Amino acid sequence: MQDLPLFLEERKQELQRKRKEIEGKRNSRKIGPVERNGDGMELGFRATEVHRNSSENAMMEKILISIDAGLRAMEQGSYHLCVGCGKEIEAERMKTVFFPQRCAGCAKNAT
Ligand SMILES: [Zn+2]
Repeated sequence: MQDLPLFLEERKQELQRKRKEIEGKRNSRKIGPVERNGDGMELGFRATEVHRNSSENAMMEKILISIDAGLRAMEQGSYHLCVGCGKEIEAERMKTVFFPQRCAGCAKNAT
């Protein structure tokens, strides 16, 4: 891939920005103490809120983990290399996938 160092530098900044954004969101969504005087409907509403937030948090957690993995791979200089065959991952694939890990061929074979 041409301009790989430049691409990696830009991607690194992108990942760090994204990471901060997600962490900010996660902190602002912390659920406050449940009021004790709420009636049944209020409690039901709160239960679904908590449920929705926790699945969103789980999703954000997953994204954070892959961002961290990507940043770590960058430090080790292996971000652009396929974990399956060790070859350079296709430029197009790196542009569209956050942390591709495998080249298109290996991704197809992996279950
Ligand atoms: Zn591969």
